[in-house]
Amino acid sequence: MRIDILTLFPEMCEAVMGESIIGRARQAGKVEINFHQIREFAINKHNQVDDTPYGGGAGMLMMPQPIYDCFMKVCDEAGTRPHFIYMSPCGKTLTQDRVKELAEMPNIAILCGRYEGVDQRVIDEIVDEEISIGDYVVTGGEMPAMILADAVSRMLPGVLSQPEGYMGESHYSSLLEYPQYTKPPVWRDREVPEVLASGHHANIKKWQRERAIERTLERRPELLENAELSKKEKEFLKELQAKEL
Ligand code: SAM
Repeated sequence: MRIDILTLFPEMCEAVMGESIIGRARQAGKVEINFHQIREFAINKHNQVDDTPYGGGAGMLMMPQPIYDCFMKVCDEAGTRPHFIYMSPCGKTLTQDRVKELAEMPNIAILCGRYEGVDQRVIDEIVDEEISIGDYVVTGGEMPAMILADAVSRMLPGVLSQPEGYMGESHYSSLLEYPQYTKPPVWRDREVPEVLASGHHANIKKWQRERAIERTLERRPELLENAELSKKEKEFLKELQAKEL
């Protein structure tokens, strides 16, 4: 998969996306992630990419033309028109389901806004989708874009050392992950639950599923509507819900 990120801060993105699992995946050719400096497409002598908003209001807006020309270059380089996403607090909130769908696409490109955002005309002209990382505002689209690129990349074959790793994780199947423990077996008088050291795989699995259901009910009950539960797990959930009443 190829991901192109259009930004005014490519070095910031490169520093983050060059490290750890994603950095190694890029080096191994499991995912291609490229950064494009929008400012290179400015056509005025000061390389200006922002200007004041019509109608007044605080701050500056990114001008449409440098973004458009930068995206056209990405299309040329990729030899196709990537699905183009603008990271925006006005977008639909990102979910693991949308991450899974985007990971099926061969090419995506991501626009990082800055200042007060982006001239609406370039959004209308070339953006396919606006995605938000949550109901709050950060100063620029770079961190949101890296969150999206990271979440998508780790779904790709060969990126995680254990491909099944993400399947038991929070949100993959509408459950939050169960609590986890490592060494030592006792820490500050807190013991690792006995079943986890029992070596009995079926009991361990049952314990983990039940803790995941319990935790999801406590913290994000609305997720349970879409969770795939066995008959026994549904009964377990009903018992928990009855206790809550
Ligand atoms: N004036 C905009 C508004 O009220 O919707 C916020 C602009 S924000 C300061 C600058 C840039 O940060 C945005 O263009 C967007 O790219 C990015 N951004 C901020 N919050 C975001 C969020 N929750 N999700 C995705 N991108 C976000």
